[in-house]
Amino acid sequence: MIVPGSTLGLLGGGQLGRMFTMAAQRMGYRVVVLDPGLHSPAGDVADEHIRADYADPAALARLARACAAVTTEFENVPAEALGFLARHCGVSPTAESVAVAQDRIREKEFLCAAGFPVAPFVVVQDGAALASAEAVELYPGILKVSRFGYDGKGQVPVANPAHALAAWHSLGSEPCVLEKRLALATEVSVVVARDVAGQVVTFPVAENQHRHGILDISIVPARVSASLAAEACRTGIAVAEALDYRGVLCVEMFVLEDGRLVVNEIAPRPHNSGHYSLDACITSQFEQQVRVLAQLPLGDPGLHCPAVMVNLLGDLWARGEPDWRLVLEHPRAKLHLYGKREARPRRKMGHYTVLADRVESALDTALAIKARLEQTCLPARRPGPEVAAKHEGGLG
Ligand code: ADP
Ligand code: MG
Repeated sequence: MIVPGSTLGLLGGGQLGRMFTMAAQRMGYRVVVLDPGLHSPAGDVADEHIRADYADPAALARLARACAAVTTEFENVPAEALGFLARHCGVSPTAESVAVAQDRIREKEFLCAAGFPVAPFVVVQDGAALASAEAVELYPGILKVSRFGYDGKGQVPVANPAHALAAWHSLGSEPCVLEKRLALATEVSVVVARDVAGQVVTFPVAENQHRHGILDISIVPARVSASLAAEACRTGIAVAEALDYRGVLCVEMFVLEDGRLVVNEIAPRPHNSGHYSLDACITSQFEQQVRVLAQLPLGDPGLHCPAVMVNLLGDLWARGEPDWRLVLEHPRAKLHLYGKREARPRRKMGHYTVLADRVESALDTALAIKARLEQTCLPARRPGPEVAAKHEGGLG
């Protein structure tokens, strides 16, 4: 057991790392973050920030010397960096699990081999694959890059082989998967924590709504049948076990219109759809990540009350800092901002979570706040033609 007072390490400086760092510090750990950026959400709150590339051997050696154990906050760290660290200090998750989750082709092949239902797909290594007999069955589909896609980036809806070929070139002619576009009833996700002894717990199932391929809202508990929720949890656990996973992992799933569950993708880390756990659960997903890393007993992921989480994207900053009173005036709304210095459209800047006794009232309040925030943050209207004409006249 790595006791409080010890030092934990983190690869990556984003908001997931910031919330991990804050959870660890609250429990008395020191945290060292390795991230190449000058400023980063996690680097800014860490006890120490090593500013270097993830593949820099000297920086990795320094991190390993400083820390009793190291984890990661995003899947795109080179898996070899985790492999290198594992020779010098504790590491979770393993390089092998991250290597599977960071590459859509490997991920799909792993899921299929382990018997999990996935959307019908073909692997695309060259343009010809897009017109193969197998591929033709998948249109209309979605072409997804195998590596480095996130938040809907690196994905294009495609209608037919010719369209898909153009899309494949626009994505850099890189290895991709072509997936059939499924008719979804809804989407759910399960955050799972599994420790070194194989003890496993699941967080309550979240129901997720996306906008432009980015998570917009998570509703907890998911408004699905008890049997479907139980199946989602069993699937999450089975994925973690099949990977022999150690740490916190999220399994995103589609619910089809006929009620079948399909595994979409795996994140080898805490997940945006688990942020509600910070305010609504006995143990948050970030505390759980600390516990697994430090080999502490797992915490209870039980839900205090229903919760709805809403992401705050950079678009809301179109007219400067949003008016946070719109969130703060609700005594059961919890605001989280990630300290990012620059707001860009579709960049995740923060989130808020609304707690309530019933999920419907949490959703009503969350949506009312969202509508007001969006209304007050609309970009300043450009003057219409008649206003412009008057203005010109005045200038003359
Ligand atoms: P990312 O890595 O960007 O999260 P996902 O593969 O999870 O990529 O896709 C983002 C979102 O796009 C999904 O949550 C879902 O809403 C939609 N989507 C992705 N694949 C499909 C599909 N095969 N059928 C229907 N919707 C899909
Ligand atoms: Mg996703």
